[in-house]
Amino acid sequence: MAQMYDRVALIGLGLIASSLYWAMKRDGLAGEVVGYARSSETRQTAREIGLCDRICDSAAEAVQDADLVILCVPVGVMGKVAAQIAPMLKPGATVSDVGSVKADVIAQVGPHLPAGVHFVPAHPVAGTEYSGPRSGFAELFENRWCLLVPAADTDPAATARLRKLWEAMGSKVAEMDAEHHDRVLAVTSHAPHLIAYTMVGVADDLSRVTDSEVIEYSAAGFRDFTRIAASDPTMWRDVFLSNKEATLEILGRFTEELFALQRAIRQGDGEHLHAYFTRTRAIRRSIVEAGQDTDAPDFGRSGRK
Ligand code: NAP
Repeated sequence: MAQMYDRVALIGLGLIASSLYWAMKRDGLAGEVVGYARSSETRQTAREIGLCDRICDSAAEAVQDADLVILCVPVGVMGKVAAQIAPMLKPGATVSDVGSVKADVIAQVGPHLPAGVHFVPAHPVAGTEYSGPRSGFAELFENRWCLLVPAADTDPAATARLRKLWEAMGSKVAEMDAEHHDRVLAVTSHAPHLIAYTMVGVADDLSRVTDSEVIEYSAAGFRDFTRIAASDPTMWRDVFLSNKEATLEILGRFTEELFALQRAIRQGDGEHLHAYFTRTRAIRRSIVEAGQDTDAPDFGRSGRK
């Protein structure tokens, strides 16, 4: 495939950045890919495993002469990283990110970027519960959505070029505004993660079921929760603090529905339960039909989601 950017800088070298590197290299989408991570340990690992063509010891050095800079750090530190790189950005460069929350990241990063630099925030809706420089793989973005959230005054050519890059890595791309993005993701990802964290926490607290029994007799529902609840603590702390309002709104609705189901159980209202589960089953079927999941019975046990 054709090279789309001469030089790309990846700031942060975890799951998403390493997957980006392997995907871009596999398909020849970027000339040189330069990387930077905060800890010398991660930079050392990256050098050892050949992650990036060059690893720099500062973020400012990594972005020099880059045509595309992608911020791949937790959402809570995007602003701090943007401040560090801003003075070294090449005029005409595009700055993007992969953060799971958009409005807060835009508010943090935008003010630091000099005029003449294009800001095209992005969110690949793809991940696993693994993190760090060794966890990435080239296929992560295949057949997954990447949501672009450009501002109204962003240069359409910069957005179109970034869209092509994501499409070349196998993603389906859609554009939406930041507030809408954050509401959608609160429903589809953020609130479900919090519920999984809670459920695993509850099981951990049960006094009449021992820890070893929870693990030994782990059934499908709980097992799937544990996979989600194994996701990176720093990343998810930041997601909830950054997408506070949308997540709290969904959790409020969740609590109301939970109370209604609780009442139905207490009152023996099987009709309510049956109707509810019939509706949710239809949603599951639509997700499988949309190609966003598989019906394979081992879903979720391969370590990818
Ligand atoms: P990751 O594997 O945990 O890697 C995070 C990277 O950010 C590491 O290189 C880490 O540096 C660096 N970092 C952490 N704290 C930092 C700080 N305070 N200052 C500077 N750098 C810091 O994370 P990831 O899964 O790739 O996630 C990166 C971004 O992608 C996040 O914004 C996340 O919301 C988003 N995202 C994640 C997923 C997912 O499922 N994982 C999916 C879509 C989007 P060290 O290695 O030196 O500690």
